[in-house]
Amino acid sequence: MKKRYLLTPGPTPLPQQVREAAALPIIHHRTPEFQKIFIQVNEGLKYLFQTRNDIFTFAASGTGAMEAQVANLLSAGDKAIVVCAGKFGERWREICRAYNVEVVSIEVEWGKAVEPSEIKRLLSEHKETRAVFTTLCETSTGVVCDIKSIGRIVKESRAVLVVDAVSGLGAEDLQADNWNVDCVVAGSQKGMMLPPGLGFCSVSAGAWKVINNSKLPKYYFDFQKAKKALDKSDTAFTPAVSLIVALKEALQLIREEGLENIFKRHKMLACATRDALCALGLKLFSGTFCNAVTAAYVPAGIDGTQLVKLMRDKYGVSIADGQGQLKGKVIRIAHLGYMQSFDIITGVSALELALSELGYKLELGKGVAAAERVFSNY
Ligand code: PMP
Repeated sequence: MKKRYLLTPGPTPLPQQVREAAALPIIHHRTPEFQKIFIQVNEGLKYLFQTRNDIFTFAASGTGAMEAQVANLLSAGDKAIVVCAGKFGERWREICRAYNVEVVSIEVEWGKAVEPSEIKRLLSEHKETRAVFTTLCETSTGVVCDIKSIGRIVKESRAVLVVDAVSGLGAEDLQADNWNVDCVVAGSQKGMMLPPGLGFCSVSAGAWKVINNSKLPKYYFDFQKAKKALDKSDTAFTPAVSLIVALKEALQLIREEGLENIFKRHKMLACATRDALCALGLKLFSGTFCNAVTAAYVPAGIDGTQLVKLMRDKYGVSIADGQGQLKGKVIRIAHLGYMQSFDIITGVSALELALSELGYKLELGKGVAAAERVFSNY
């Protein structure tokens, strides 16, 4: 028997209400019953996204929603500024290039956050820029980006601001409307506490002006089609019915807890995780910490990939390895979505045991105690 614990930055654990809702008998989507659920879901999404704009729900992972944004906003040869501060910023660039969009990259050292002034500089140098693509929480590095400042800068230009909030939504404050974010991209399997399979795109009035001129090819992800359907509280194609039924429950839980409390809880879990890792002598990877996931260097002489495997196979605790250039060099512990203090205690405890087994000198319980100190002060 092995009890499993998921402390990965997606998928994340599912609340019981969400699991039960996803397992209900399937209903047809062109019915008043589904339409009622879909209306509630769309209202709940607006609360979570902090926007009055339309939010489209696609049967896709987060990357599908990213691709949808690029394909709907731009035309071949258009110019876009892309913040590349990790693997997911690089994904924006890859998608843009796949669609023959001309990319002006801002290369940020992994572990650091982009300087908003750099975006300002490039926007004044490339006045024809149509879109700025960035990432709220760079999941590969554990860094949060200053979207509020970026929003102020991009607003002064002709470009639209597109934010990948796939891992950040529901963990970090992102006031889409107040901060002038035109388009927010999200995925279901992170802070939304759902299984993977839904991708979301929000679209501002300003973004529609750009969308109406976009010539890139699209079919399933065509926002015009999605909008026509959404205006009738419908979807253009068969929606992922069970996931949307489950989403209604998740959004209800989010409303009950309230965004402010949710952000506070994520901050507490993030602080506890960071304190625990430092107490164990690990060095944190980034400097501008996000509240969704913490990255830390693996101690010298220990293989991070082996550490992650040992924690999973022996203790049933899944955390994430480093990605790309960081594979084997950092570990990433998520504190995202349906999580509370004892999930962190479990994760830190398993980390202590596994590190100790791999020969790292530590005092068992020291990380757990550090996390508990944070919890007892909240
Ligand atoms: N952006 C970010 C910031 C992410 O964390 C992820 C998933 N780890 C994605 C995009 C891609 O999402 P998906 O794997 O659902 O396609």
